[in-house]
Amino acid sequence: MNAWQTAGLVVIPVLAGWSALRIVVRQGARKLDYFSALFWSGVAVGLGLGDGPGWLLAAGCLTFAATLLAHLLVAAARRLNKPLVTVDPGAFRARLVEICTADGSPEALLAGVGPDGTITVWGLEPAGIGRERHRPGGACASCLLEEVVTELAANGEETVEQYRAQLRRRANQLFLLRRGVISGDWTAELRPVQGFKTPFEYAPCPVHRI
Ligand SMILES: [Zn+2]
Repeated sequence: MNAWQTAGLVVIPVLAGWSALRIVVRQGARKLDYFSALFWSGVAVGLGLGDGPGWLLAAGCLTFAATLLAHLLVAAARRLNKPLVTVDPGAFRARLVEICTADGSPEALLAGVGPDGTITVWGLEPAGIGRERHRPGGACASCLLEEVVTELAANGEETVEQYRAQLRRRANQLFLLRRGVISGDWTAELRPVQGFKTPFEYAPCPVHRI
């Protein structure tokens, strides 16, 4: 194989790697980058498995892995980039309790403190609380959530104890709050966080700082 042919083959994984990189840096539609990265990786692997040089197979596998990594990075960034809103801690806490104690309140909600120290609530969208990350000013998000749970749930205090024990083990938890259909009483339980489990490390209070 002469130098020109080698150079021609080098272009294939370079194109694949370049496309994988573009998946990470591009804002907006990435379909073409995904297609291009997978296509050129496939060409490299195909040629490497055929009568092309062995390094082409290795390079193709590498760019496949880079494409997968790029995809995971984009997915992680998308999760972290949920909109952030700053809320007044007292007002936010009162609003959550008010929604849950009003007539026709939702039957269940899930709430937790993310690794960035913000509160996300799921299940109260119809009542006007979206899934944004809520930053409670300079207050401790875990304390705020614990106060809501203690105020609402019949077993709030013991669930908060379990929550703190889990946080000390660096296993972040969500609070699942459910309202009894007949009694109307709220009960709380914990749900382990999926994915990135480390709790917020810089809580502004000594109880939740780890
Ligand atoms: Zn706290």
